[in-house]
Amino acid sequence: MSTPTSSPRHAVGPASQAAFQRACQVMPGGVNSPARAFGAVGGSPLFIRKAFGPFLEDIDGRSYIDYIGSWGPMILGHAHPAVLEAIKQAATLGTSYGAPTEAESELAEMIIAAVPSIETVRLVNSGTEATMSAIRVARGFTGRDKVIKFAGNYHGHVDSLLVAAGSSAATLGVPDSPGVTAGAGADTIVLPYNDGQAVRDAFRKCPGQIAAVILEPVVGNMGCVPPDEGYLRALREVTDQEGAVLIFDEVMTGFRLAYGGAQQLFGVTPDITTLGKIVGGGMPLGAYGGRAEIMAHVLPAGRVFQAGTLSGNPVAVAAGTTTLRLLRDEPPYDDLERIGAKLASGLASAAAAAGLPAQVQRVGSMMTLFFNEAPVRNWTDADRSDRERFAAYFWGMIRRGVYMPCSQFEALFFSRTHSEAEIQATIELAHQVCLEIVEERS
Ligand SMILES: *Cc1c(COP(=O)(O)O)cnc(C)c1O
Repeated sequence: MSTPTSSPRHAVGPASQAAFQRACQVMPGGVNSPARAFGAVGGSPLFIRKAFGPFLEDIDGRSYIDYIGSWGPMILGHAHPAVLEAIKQAATLGTSYGAPTEAESELAEMIIAAVPSIETVRLVNSGTEATMSAIRVARGFTGRDKVIKFAGNYHGHVDSLLVAAGSSAATLGVPDSPGVTAGAGADTIVLPYNDGQAVRDAFRKCPGQIAAVILEPVVGNMGCVPPDEGYLRALREVTDQEGAVLIFDEVMTGFRLAYGGAQQLFGVTPDITTLGKIVGGGMPLGAYGGRAEIMAHVLPAGRVFQAGTLSGNPVAVAAGTTTLRLLRDEPPYDDLERIGAKLASGLASAAAAAGLPAQVQRVGSMMTLFFNEAPVRNWTDADRSDRERFAAYFWGMIRRGVYMPCSQFEALFFSRTHSEAEIQATIELAHQVCLEIVEERS
């Protein structure tokens, strides 16, 4: 028997519950993006009214230490004064022109200076648009159709990439979602992550047919899974040999793991990079860029069609430029590493003290605590995690004012504004929650 306070219903205040009922009348599942619905942990979502620094406040007036950061963008913390000021200033000059601005070139120059693989870049409105366009350009450039992706890697809701199969065997893709035709997935080859041999085998089976290999260079979307030593380099080698385009989807890792992203951290340079999240500073903005020779195929320089009414939106560009400037001029990465190491060891020892088998996997300010007996290197491993225990952990933390990702298969993030005090408090609360989980079980 669980106590009343351990029920998700009591962790969510009456105002949030009422707001969710209202939202469910007018939006599918009551949300505009499924991860927000708390479906994976069984319950209804908190409705947020404001955020500041490392904190969120819900409409019941309860506040939380936030470890989602809008699922990645808020590396400077919420409502950073300089970013807000840039947004206000840009907005007073008009919010969209449908014509070029100098500010777009400034952001493009900053992205090119930051990210080793990017020689020219196109701004879009989301990470999904960036990966969709990158795949199209890779196909246009190579004249080939097939694309390799990895089980458990998420690249937005692009039809041809909504194929994860979850299989450790090399399979031709079967769509994950109704509405994605078999045809859309037919040219997608799904392979297990961290297995270089599987990629070499796929190229051998389909000679001259594979346009691109796309991956998260550190996976965030099956929980945090780092690449094995030498894995990224192996992918670079095989794509070079086979004349295929290597695409790093750095929508999550870009400007988070280092100013130049995972490719800077690991010293492996892809042909195309996709960006989103941080690059927009909390506004809707994505980007894809790479070798100039490849990007020259994008319309109107080349013939690969890609366009956007709001692309390069001046308000989003102002937020992005200001965010990148702050990250460049006052790099937070050493601090994030230090804070991250402390949080990781604290969360691991909280689980260990309660006797709960857990793996804390982390790169910089991305991390996941898997309730799993063994390290997680791919989707098959991740899938063995104890989802029920994770749900209990999630709600235990929510009740104590800590807002962590509502799925075992998401990474948590923290920001430059998370101080030692927030981290220490989080660790102490995690100890309470882990002990509570053990007591409830017995
Ligand atoms: C979030 C994410 C996307 C999709 O970006 P949206 O802006 O949500 O469309 C793509 N790839 C990765 C790695 C992501 O984390």
